[in-house]
Amino acid sequence: MDCIFCKIGQKEIPSEIIWESQNLLAFQDIHPMAPVHVLLIPKKHIESLVRFQPEDKGLMAEIFGAIPEVAQLLGIKEKGFQTLIRTGKGGGQEVPHLHIHILGGTHF
Ligand code: AMP
Ligand code: ZN
Repeated sequence: MDCIFCKIGQKEIPSEIIWESQNLLAFQDIHPMAPVHVLLIPKKHIESLVRFQPEDKGLMAEIFGAIPEVAQLLGIKEKGFQTLIRTGKGGGQEVPHLHIHILGGTHF
């Protein structure tokens, strides 16, 4: 499948990796919108939030569990941060592989 985030997840395309687990990867956004801007993705191809299947429930829990872990590594866990998930064209999603933006390092 010609999906850029699948390729990043499989390390076929380089990225600045922040954190990794068996099923997830967090890497620097190439066009940061804040001093800290990281994307968290499942390595499995899930197009968007509305394409989660019942069998992905565990993965969804892993994603939410990973957010504070990644925030801790980035030094923004206690200061506070934003998470952003764009869904579909109308939601401004440009890359059709689920990703959670983790934004921080400033006051929003
Ligand atoms: P979205 O509009 O929510 O789909 O966001 C896509 C995000 O992916 C944007 O913030 C881009 O800067 C980022 N992005 C696109 N290609 C890459 C890449 N190769 N490495 C890191 N971030 C990327
Ligand atoms: Zn993908």
